[in-house]
Amino acid sequence: MSAPVVIVGAGQAAAQAVTSLKAEGFGGPIVLLGDEPYLPYQRPPLSKAYLGGEMTEDRLELKAPKFYADAGVEVRLGARVSRLLPAEGQVELAEGERIAYGALLLATGTRARALPVPGAELAGVFSIRSIDDVRHFRAMALPGARLVIVGGGYIGLEVAAKARKLGLDVTVVEGQPRLLARVACATISDFALALHEGQGVRVITGMGVTRLVGPDRVSAVELADGRVLPADLVLCAVGAVPNAELAAEAGLALENGIRVDAATRTSAPGIFAAGDVASFPSTLYGRRVRLESVQNAIDQAKAAAKSITGAAVAYDPIPWFWSDQYDVKLQIAGLLDGFDRTECEGDVAAGRFCVRYFAADRLLAVCSVNDPKSHMLARKALAPPPALVPG
Ligand code: FAD
Repeated sequence: MSAPVVIVGAGQAAAQAVTSLKAEGFGGPIVLLGDEPYLPYQRPPLSKAYLGGEMTEDRLELKAPKFYADAGVEVRLGARVSRLLPAEGQVELAEGERIAYGALLLATGTRARALPVPGAELAGVFSIRSIDDVRHFRAMALPGARLVIVGGGYIGLEVAAKARKLGLDVTVVEGQPRLLARVACATISDFALALHEGQGVRVITGMGVTRLVGPDRVSAVELADGRVLPADLVLCAVGAVPNAELAAEAGLALENGIRVDAATRTSAPGIFAAGDVASFPSTLYGRRVRLESVQNAIDQAKAAAKSITGAAVAYDPIPWFWSDQYDVKLQIAGLLDGFDRTECEGDVAAGRFCVRYFAADRLLAVCSVNDPKSHMLARKALAPPPALVPG
């Protein structure tokens, strides 16, 4: 039997890669290696419906166990890959076992960035990336508990919304002068600020955190201006870092994650990467990008499956993303980098509007608030036709 396609990381991209390999007619063996004890699951609900208790754990699974069994996939959970051996065409598990591959797909995702301040390791300090993180958080998130969220980006704000619903006392501390500063214009930031303050969240912007106070459990958050916020729980929501160490140690080229070409090929023959961990060249945005979104994990995994089966396509997507906070759905199509002008349409006060971002009159991106029609139109307006590249 030929050596299998081995997929490292059992998340969103991995589940899609299995589906797409099958759809491409791949009939060889597939081995899926994931270090978590769960089959691939959706992460977006971890800071939304699952965190809020409106969605049960069984609904997080992307595919039922039967899917993998029917597809003949050897799924190994709790299996951490500790080394890649490109010269031998093998991966090594933490326990020392080696597995040979015909093609290797790295889909190892990202992990939460640690807060670089003293006290970040105290009990009661969390990040939210996995089912286990949410279970742990929910066990301590009792009504009345004081939660300080460090980071006013999407995940921080989504957790703030659900924590309010769970009856927690919530403060968000953001280092930038406004919420969502890296991903949205001031109109959206102001809207988010009013939304959260209206729900009883205290928001402190333009303020660094210098220390989390113990001694064993976190009891307070010390701010750069000397203020001390009492805290029973602290959520660190300050971004994510790609799990690219395996690739780095094996000598693969990195560039803000694992460097891949438009067809998801890494610098090592037979090794591909997709999802949060991979940075790829975007001709649409004229630079290399690494996206942390479901859209990217799915579409790049589809491209990887095509490359692995010999029909390489040029992956050059219009990125899109969403965030749910209270009864607000925020949807973003495109990337906002380099915009010089915005246009707002709709009723900001009524919470239904969209903002269009332009660079030299070229539409770059659209943020829609409770306005799904504008979002869908934006995706159509921005979308390029698919292009085939030589394999
Ligand atoms: P992941 O789904 O993270 O899977 C990677 C897997 O690889 C993990 O299970 C990891 O443990 C495993 N792994 C890592 N190293 C190894 C190793 N050495 N050996 C074995 N296994 C390994 N995106 C949106 O578009 N919209 C949203 O609203 C949204 N909300 C989100 C909310 C939260 C709380 C989080 C955490 C993410 C959210 N995302 C959202 C992002 C989206 O979930 C990710 O972009 C997507 O999961 C990326 O898929 P992936 O397969 O690349 O990585």
